[in-house]
Amino acid sequence: MKIKDIGEFGLIDRIHAKAGRSSYPVIIGIGDDASVLDVGSRNQAVTTTDMLVEGVHFLRDSIDPFDLGFKSHAVNLSDIAAMGATPVQSFLSFGLPPDMDVEIIDRFMDGFLEAGKGVPLSGGDTVSSREGWLISVTVIGVAPAGKVLRRDAAAPGETVWLCGPLGDSAAGLSILLGESRKVNEEDADFLIQRHNRPLPQLRMGRILLETGISHCAIDVSDGLLQDLGHICECSQLGAELELESIPLSRPIRELAAANGVDPYMWALKGGEDYSILFTVKEEKEKKLITVLEREEIEAFPIGRMVRGEGIVVYRDGSPMDTGKVGGFDHFRENP
Ligand code: ADP
Ligand code: MG
Repeated sequence: MKIKDIGEFGLIDRIHAKAGRSSYPVIIGIGDDASVLDVGSRNQAVTTTDMLVEGVHFLRDSIDPFDLGFKSHAVNLSDIAAMGATPVQSFLSFGLPPDMDVEIIDRFMDGFLEAGKGVPLSGGDTVSSREGWLISVTVIGVAPAGKVLRRDAAAPGETVWLCGPLGDSAAGLSILLGESRKVNEEDADFLIQRHNRPLPQLRMGRILLETGISHCAIDVSDGLLQDLGHICECSQLGAELELESIPLSRPIRELAAANGVDPYMWALKGGEDYSILFTVKEEKEKKLITVLEREEIEAFPIGRMVRGEGIVVYRDGSPMDTGKVGGFDHFRENP
């Protein structure tokens, strides 16, 4: 059997089965945005790691090394945000082609440190690579013991909320790839910036944890359907979404209109927005709305968790066919 036959998540399941369930002091092992470790104090350690590979995640000649540094840190910080934790240290490892200009790494580091906003770089590893540039980042965060936001903590009847608009990153990528014709420079820059420098929603995650408004969250890195699908699977529930409730920015609407495409497709399947998806019990919604206003953060209800399995998306009140709207899988042909 080839890896492409089982896909990225089939392979992770297989690795998980071999490794077995984790036990104390590991509170959450494989399967969430980050792993949680009891370190015998009021805080637990929350750890996540991600890898970026030249030719897969980026093309060396077409990405600004500053943006690459920014993004490689931001995507890890986003996983920490999805747990409601606070990042406290980062580790950075490189596989580097010997003929690469050191100035590229200087610029990469400027972006990496900018995204971290003071999270100290505390170690890493540097080796040579024959097959292009490899970047591996690990971030450790802390969260009050027993309070992290988990993928498996949704309950039926809870409303699904989304922090921030969706699809901008995929729309920006479509401009970069020449698939969409830009409407104007300013909007194009905005969408491309959303792709190149995603902003981890650390404040949102922390507020959800501290107020106890939500216990369940994930960051949207692989597309809304896929990531909400992870919450459904882990919580053994289904979900219903109203397509028109998904927040879209003005630039994405205008880009879609000018190119004759459906902006919701970017929102449903395009990943890399790094917004936070979370679920809230009905009785906590009032409190959420008050907190969002006070903190000046935007979030939008887009659907609900239901008994059963799978996600049904309603468009104009009727279920739509989402069969071809998959998310990103590293080993399968992506839609
Ligand atoms: P995210 O998109 O939040 O980074 P992923 O979808 O990449 O999460 O991974 C899903 C889960 O599988 C995570 O808990 C991750 O730590 C785990 N995982 C991925 N690859 C491996 C691996 N090679 N060995 C062990 N765990 C893995
Ligand atoms: Mg994640």
